[in-house]
Amino acid sequence: MVEPTYRKVGVLGGTFDPIHLGHVHLALDAMKEMSLDKVLFIPARIQPFKQDKKTASGRDRLAMVEAAIAGIKGLESSSLELDAEGVSYTYLTIRRLRERFGEECRMYFITGTDAFLKIEKWRNAEELLRSCGYLVGTRPGYRQRELEECISRVKTRYGTEVRNLHNSRFDISSTEVRARLEGGGDCSDLIPESVERYIRANGLYRE
Ligand code: NAP
Repeated sequence: MVEPTYRKVGVLGGTFDPIHLGHVHLALDAMKEMSLDKVLFIPARIQPFKQDKKTASGRDRLAMVEAAIAGIKGLESSSLELDAEGVSYTYLTIRRLRERFGEECRMYFITGTDAFLKIEKWRNAEELLRSCGYLVGTRPGYRQRELEECISRVKTRYGTEVRNLHNSRFDISSTEVRARLEGGGDCSDLIPESVERYIRANGLYRE
């Protein structure tokens, strides 16, 4: 069913294993800079480039996303990819969201730099790059020159709207969070307290 009231929706797809403060602030900064009506966090069932990687269950990753964004206006989670079969290809997700939000809604897929630099290798890249806009966030150490070249190539080839966000930079990765948790360390500077509580209550990311 079409939800007619939205003009601009952001979509932050991720493995979120686990979600951290870098993800939450990327969504908030994108929403503010682009005046988005809302941002949907969509945990991947199987990330196409991480098919051999063991992750926390989809249920736990979604629960951590819900805990992280609870009470934050404009941020929502969606189990669209977790409820589907097979590998979570983004072009399929955008197709489904298009049915939900209608042709009038401008959709923006939000990514970090590393993800965007590989986007031309994603499944059905041409459809994907023509079907929505892209908001690319940066973090300390990002490859600025390579990103500028990639943005310019994609704009020329596919006519894609791409914006390099002026987001606040958080030097955080899910790998670092997992490593710290495995070592029994405190993660309060990396993840929301509610996520840390969920992780401890459910015994996730122990060696
Ligand atoms: P992730 O590790 O959970 O990260 C989610 C997003 O947040 C990524 O774009 C990531 O960018 C960004 N991010 C992480 N830490 C950040 C920080 N500190 N500051 C700013 N941004 C940060 O998710 P993922 O495994 O990369 O997957 C991202 C999305 O791409 C998913 O929806 C996945 O399904 C999709 N994907 C699709 C295909 C395909 O369709 N063929 C292939 C690959 C991925 P960085 O990449 O820069 O870390």
